[in-house]
Amino acid sequence: MFAIVLALLMLLSACSSAPPTGPEAAKALIDEAAAAMGGWAMLDAVKSQEILVGGGDWEPMQAVDPNGEPRTINTFGQSTIVDFERNRMRLTFDAIRVYPTRAPVKFAEVIDGDAGMLESVDATGKVVRERLHPSRYATRLRDVRRLPLRVLYTAKSAPDITRVPDRNEGNKTLHILHYTDGGMPVELQIDSFNKLPMRIIYTEDDTVYGDTLNEVAINNTKLDEAALTVPPEIRSQPEIGDRIVSQWILRRVVMGVGYQDFARPQKVDLVEVSKGVYHVKGSSHHSMAIEMKDHLVLIEAPLYEERSAAVIKALEEKIPGKPIKYVVMTHFHIDHSGGLRAYAAKGATIIGPESAVPFLKTMLSRPKTVRPDSLAKAGNTTPNIEGVKETKSLTDGDRTIELIQIENPHVSGMLVAYLPAEKVLFVSDLYTPGTPVEPTNTTGIANAVALDTAITGGKLSVDRIVGGHGDIAPLRDLAKVTALPKS
Ligand SMILES: [Zn+2]
Repeated sequence: MFAIVLALLMLLSACSSAPPTGPEAAKALIDEAAAAMGGWAMLDAVKSQEILVGGGDWEPMQAVDPNGEPRTINTFGQSTIVDFERNRMRLTFDAIRVYPTRAPVKFAEVIDGDAGMLESVDATGKVVRERLHPSRYATRLRDVRRLPLRVLYTAKSAPDITRVPDRNEGNKTLHILHYTDGGMPVELQIDSFNKLPMRIIYTEDDTVYGDTLNEVAINNTKLDEAALTVPPEIRSQPEIGDRIVSQWILRRVVMGVGYQDFARPQKVDLVEVSKGVYHVKGSSHHSMAIEMKDHLVLIEAPLYEERSAAVIKALEEKIPGKPIKYVVMTHFHIDHSGGLRAYAAKGATIIGPESAVPFLKTMLSRPKTVRPDSLAKAGNTTPNIEGVKETKSLTDGDRTIELIQIENPHVSGMLVAYLPAEKVLFVSDLYTPGTPVEPTNTTGIANAVALDTAITGGKLSVDRIVGGHGDIAPLRDLAKVTALPKS
């Protein structure tokens, strides 16, 4: 057995010839790395770079004991603009320092060729400008020279650049370049698999430890044509919707919540909950429409004008001749109030939690001149607004709708709509029927408990819950959530 392994090893080593070493091999490897990054022409084309960083600093030499956890010094934001062509840079640093004393730390450094300037604010608030300390200047420039987009230029121009034998690390083979930069030995490691620069290690002086390795690890520095290209199969997809510029959409994106139907044709599905009661479904946000003797009551006007217009049209077709007289806003949040103005324009009375009445007054009277909606076109007539303190009943003599304010962790004013005869309850955000709540979702559990407490405490006889999000589910589904451990 041993003989076979040995033979195999010998065979393997015979097959792989050792990679070339020396200055010429180094230059060839740098060219290979440049090609892997997109080519010298692509790298040359980058004339400047802006780098935004947020993070924290830790100082090992301020730990409680020499091998202890490094001390947290600050959390910071830093922006750097580097002009490669003219050898200029500006770095701004803005931090809250927590050690040794708590204080804000702000400064800007400007490097313009061979001169550096420090701009800071003194105790009296005056801006102080001085020549940047030469060591600080030199260290910053070192950082620029080892930027992922600059390091190959730095290596290439080093007179003593050389390639040394490859090194194995785990399952990776590293190509190694050695050179000096500013008198310091540097090792540049290139990933043998994709030929991209991987690590840059400077041996520098530390006042306490002497020769110290200072390492920058790089993760994928490819200037990839594909990264800047919309591929044909995507380009050929139709663009659905309008190009409306509004921060609203980016705010939704950041929150990871529904925006996909914005400025697109709306889908409205009327799902019958009970006779004359409809779950008015869209993709992410739903309403509930209740048919009364000579009018309709709508619970929830989510999203935006276009959603409301589509809902109004669908209800006019399904239940002609009955205007929407009341619209109930469950709570003021962006996605649950955005459609209200369209109903106000139609003359509906807007009902919301008492605490949200000032909000309603403001939002229903705001100018909308950039994209006038139906209320703006109707001359922003003052709509009727009603607040619900604890409960309010809407009835036509036959059917009754109870609007109930409930205590909950989600928002200060929150209404649910309860139909006692139908044993149906409409709720937004506190519980999403049909969507399981993970045991780790403590917020979701707390919200469900708040709803459950209101149902039990109010002795509401509920069979089914209709969601402002989600579907329609039996009450026992709520119990599955409230049974989860609470923390
Ligand atoms: Zn909400």
